[in-house]
Formats: sequence, structure tokens, C-alpha cells
Amino acid sequence: MQYVIHYDIAAVVVFTFIIVAFYGRRVIPTRENHSFSAFMIVGMAVAALDLLSCLVMEYWPEAPLVFSYVLNILVFVSINLLYLTYYHYIITLTRNYKSKFWVVTRVLVNAIFWMNIILEVLTPWLHTVFYFENGRYLHGKFYVVHFISGGVVLIICMILTFYTRRKFTAVQNSIAYFGTMIFILAVVIQFIFPKYLLMPFATSVYTLAVLLGLQNPAEFMDPNLKIYNLDALAALMDQRMDEKKKFGLLVFSLEGLNFVDQFMGLDNSRELLKNVAKECRNYRKDLHIFYLGKENFAYFFQDENEREITEVADWLRWRFLSTFNIKGVKVNLTARVCGVKYSELGCTRNELINAIDYTLLKEESKFKDKLLWVESDENDAFRREGMVLHVLQKALLKKEFEVYYQPIYSVKSGKFVTAEALVRLRDPELGFISPDEFIPIAERHGLILQIGEYVFKQVCEFIASGEVASRGIEYIEVNLSMVQCMQKNLYEEISSIMEAYHVPSNMLDFEITETFSSSDNEALVQNMNMLISKGATFAADDFGTGFATTTYLMEYPFKIIKLDKSFIWKAMEDENAMKILKHTAAMIKSLNMSIVAEGVETLEQAEILKEMGVDFLQGFYFSKPVSREDFVKFIDEEAPKFRNLKMLPGES
Ligand code: C2E
Ligand code: CA
Ligand code: CA
Repeated sequence: MQYVIHYDIAAVVVFTFIIVAFYGRRVIPTRENHSFSAFMIVGMAVAALDLLSCLVMEYWPEAPLVFSYVLNILVFVSINLLYLTYYHYIITLTRNYKSKFWVVTRVLVNAIFWMNIILEVLTPWLHTVFYFENGRYLHGKFYVVHFISGGVVLIICMILTFYTRRKFTAVQNSIAYFGTMIFILAVVIQFIFPKYLLMPFATSVYTLAVLLGLQNPAEFMDPNLKIYNLDALAALMDQRMDEKKKFGLLVFSLEGLNFVDQFMGLDNSRELLKNVAKECRNYRKDLHIFYLGKENFAYFFQDENEREITEVADWLRWRFLSTFNIKGVKVNLTARVCGVKYSELGCTRNELINAIDYTLLKEESKFKDKLLWVESDENDAFRREGMVLHVLQKALLKKEFEVYYQPIYSVKSGKFVTAEALVRLRDPELGFISPDEFIPIAERHGLILQIGEYVFKQVCEFIASGEVASRGIEYIEVNLSMVQCMQKNLYEEISSIMEAYHVPSNMLDFEITETFSSSDNEALVQNMNMLISKGATFAADDFGTGFATTTYLMEYPFKIIKLDKSFIWKAMEDENAMKILKHTAAMIKSLNMSIVAEGVETLEQAEILKEMGVDFLQGFYFSKPVSREDFVKFIDEEAPKFRNLKMLPGES
């Protein structure tokens, strides 16, 4: 029989093109890529061996029989392998390696594979698949088994593709169907007309379609930076996690890009990102680097070698010490860096991404001498944060926040003259959530402005009701978050609400806590001065903790200083702390500011503080923060009992 070998030649050409195109770019080691390369290489082998066997038959009829047998067996074996690798490719593509279908079909496909191998290996003796007689190539009695086997495997693949069609786009599905159809067609044609060696060619056409349509790197590449994207990293991580294999990451987030955005334009900041990507890629060509969007990048490590990850982090630190050049302008960037040793975390991919985000938000992640590792409890913290965030969003939508009031006692008048408004949140599932927990979360996720506005409106409504003033309450203290204070339009927002409720500004005192370096306080001071000019006052909250220092008192126009409860409690236990407290109180007095002591829990504490010259007392000794109604009731019924601090209920 005269074989038509043109198709084989074409197949070899197409495969060569595919292999060059595939390996021409940096291939990330995902399971899809592995199984695709296996399929591609086997495809090439089929085409080459098929071609070779035809050429040998045609041009070297006197070839030794052993050689002819070996060569032709190899052709059949490679075709078997092709079915097998195709099946594996479809499995990885449809991510079906966990389903029952896989378990069952894998056994079947492997059985078919080994049965064929046995038939092929025995063919020189038993003439099972083919044999030579007088130098002629003839089909054996089980020749047809080979084709039926191929058909069965392909039908399995077809079912699999159909079964998982929803996971894929129409194009992806069409390619999968097209591949299987073209395969089946080729098998049938070749069976009916054996001289047309269509199989390898069909495989090559299909592989090309897969390369262009499914293995299309565009999906996994950032078009601007020309490096892999987050989807690529996600695929890679999924695979590692699935296979329970270790891997390491070094994630870094650039800071200073905003500046470039703002002053040099988006194009330049893109250009800068490109430069960063290029340098980081060139630094270690053997490592895969991914662009995760915005200002974030990650290096991927095949294992969790701490030394190697630290080494790269050191390089990054070193590199970011010098500037980047963009259109002749030198730009300084810094990077927050964190490392991941996956096996120490053992979480899902999303949890990992969240834990990384969370770690990068930490102060310590800014360039320090040591690399910050992502830890497993970040995960729990993050999960909790996610839940609280969800509750916050819901509460904002449904106006579920409540505002409680804690009365504040004036030592001088022996009456309650003010109260602090404190926000409350209760969730059916999470229960009571402390503002100490949810306020920072709201700040991080941009919800604090809405919450602040809601609280402020509630306070204004309360003041406007007249229930407050008529009971001798002179003003209400409202907590302002630093995020609110940094808003350029804070003054407008606040005064428009006050106007809407006809609340005079002198009925309000705003409490703020300094938590940031005083370099960007311009907006704050401006807001403060404008509100003060209208008659409002400001209190320095949490004095005696952390940042609040004496220079802070000089920098801002405060009228009231609130001594933090921890400071008070410490003084009650410790002699030296008491000395500091006394001096602090004297110092504040000398500046003509009023003092509020927070956290007063006992009569004894109240008396000590009174002695010290503290003007106002706030604490559970008088009352916990209570609802608006209970607050009114407290002022009407309980307050008179505190008239004279020395003669208290049940103690006189
Ligand atoms: P803060 O401004 O220091 O508020 C005083 C906190 O001390 C309140 O906690 C109050 O319930 C508590 N406290 C008062 N007296 C005593 C006492 O005698 N013993 C004890 N153990 N605690 C006492 P709360 O209500 O949990 O608020 C916590 C923090 O959340 C507040 O600390 C404040 O920073 C923030 N916050 C509360 N409401 C708001 C709000 O509407 N806006 C903003 N931005 N922050 C708020
Ligand atoms: Ca406060
Ligand atoms: Ca406090």
C-alpha cells in the first residue's frame, strides 16, 4: 500500500511551530502547562515516528525485520500515549481530578492503555496488531482494537467536556469539542482508508487550536508589564495546594506610586511599573515574578527555602534604596515586603491572599531589617475582620447603629454637665461588637465617614429634641476619627448637619486622638480652627497613651484634655505613675485647659482625682454608657444622688 505522507510532514511542521511558540515564553509550572507539554511532545513523537515508518517502508524495503517491528511498535505505542495524555490534559483543563468520574475513567483509560501496549509488544510473535509477511506490512487480528480503544477514550473526553461546560467560555468549550470531533473523524477515516495518515495531522491542528485558544497566555499575562498576572499565580497556587506541595512567596507592595500618578501622570507611573517589573524579572531569571495588580508584585518559589526568600528580599531592599529613573526624573519608591511559607499556613488560596493583604497593611511591613513572614493567625484575624466588615455594611444600610451616652460629672458644680456619645453595634450572630474593634476596621475599609455622619446626626437630633439642655447638659462630646479629621470638607459636612438640626456649635465638643505623625496635620488644624471659630471645642482624647505628648498640646487648639482610663488605673496602682499623673494634671491646669478623667470606677478614685484638680469625671462609678432613653432617666432619677461626691448613695 502506498501511504500518503503529506499529512505527516505537515503535522511535523505544525508541531515544530507549536513547540517553539510554547517554550519561547516563560512557562509557569502549572498542571495545565505540564499536561499540555506532555500532550504536545507525544503529538510530535507520533507525527515524527509515523512519518519515519512510512519513509522506511517506502525507501528502505530491505530494512532488518527487527528494526521495522520496533519502529512500528513505537508508532502504535506513541498513539496510545497520545490518547492517554489527551485524556490527562482534558482532566486538568476541566479540573476534574477529584470527581468520581475521574477515578472510574482513570482506571478504564489506564486499562485500555496497558491492554494495547501488551497487544503491541506481543505483535512480532502473535501478530496481534500488525505483522510483516514477505516484507509486506499487514494488519493483525486485533488491529481494530486499537481504533476502538481510541474511540472509547475520546468519547470519555467528550463526556467530560460536556459535563464541565459551565466552567468554561463558549470558545473554550468549542475548542474542546472541536478537538475531540476532529480526533474521532481522523480515527474513523484512517480506519476506513488506511493509506491516509490523518491522525497526527489532526492532532497537530487541534494542539494548535488549544495553544491559541486555551493555553492562550493573554489570559495569564499582564499586557503592559509583560509578566504573569494574579490569575496565573492563582492557578499555580491552586495546583500546589491541591497536590499538597510546598511553595514560597515573596510579596511586595510599592509605596510612592501615588505621588508619580499625581504629579507625573498615569502614563509615567505605568512606565515606572514596567521598569520595576523588568528589573525584578532580570534580577533572577529562574524565578517567576507575578504582577498582582495595583502596586503589588510577587516572586514564586518552588520550595520554602527561607534563605533563598530572604536573599531576594534583601536584594529588593537594596534596590529600593536607590531611585528609579523615569523620563530623566529620579523617583524614590519604597516597598512593603512579606514572605510566605505556605506549608506553615495551610489555608485556602483566598485565605492566603487575605492574610498577605493583612500582613502588608501592618506597620512593620514597611522596610525594616527583617523580613516579615505571613503568619497563620493573620488568617483568623482576617476572617474576623471580613465578618465584622460585612456586619458594618449591613448595619449602615439598615441604620442599625445605636448611639449610647455616658454622663460626665462636673466636680465643680456637682452635676452632670456633659456626656460622651459612644457608638454601639449589635449583630444577631456575632453579638455585641466593641467599637474598639469595629472603628479601626471601618477606618481601614472606608466606612468610618458614613458611621461618623450617622452618629453625628443622632447626636444632633438628641440635642435638637431639647431633652438635653433642659436637664442641664451643656454640651455633648463626640468622637471624631482621624480619618474624618483629615477630610478637607469636614467643616462643611459638620456645619451643614448642625444647621439642618438647628444645633448651636457650642453644644458640641469633639474628641480626637492623635495616631499619626504630625507631618500631614494641615487639614486637621484648619478644620479645628474653623469649628472653634463657630463656637465648638476640642478635646484631646486618650491622653497619656502612645502618641499624645506635651508638644501635641501646643500644636492643636484643645480646650479639654481627656486622661485615658489606662493612665488613671496605672496611677492608682503605682506610686511613680501617680506622680506623673499629678504633674500632668498640674501642667494641663497651668495651660488653662480642662481635664476629664476617664475610667472612674470607684468612689476612692473619684476622690483622689477630685483632689488633684480634675474638672470632670467619667466612668462606670457614675454610669456605663446607656441608651438615649436611659440616659434621660439617669439624669432625672440617679444624678441627684451624686450631688455631693462625699455623700453617696448607700454610703452616707
Ligand atoms: P474612648 O474615646 O476612650 O471612649 C471611652 C471608652 O471607655 C468607652 O468605650 C467607654 O465605654 C469606656 N469607659 C468609660 N468609663 C469606663 C470605666 O469606668 N471602666 C471601663 N472599663 N471602661 C470605661 P467604648 O464605648 O467601648 O468605646 C471604645 C472606643 O471606641 C472609644 O474610646 C473611641 O475611641 C471609639 N469610639 C466609640 N464611639 C465612637 C464614635 O462614635 N466615633 C469614633 N470615631 N470612635 C468611637
Ligand atoms: Ca472618647
Ligand atoms: Ca480613652
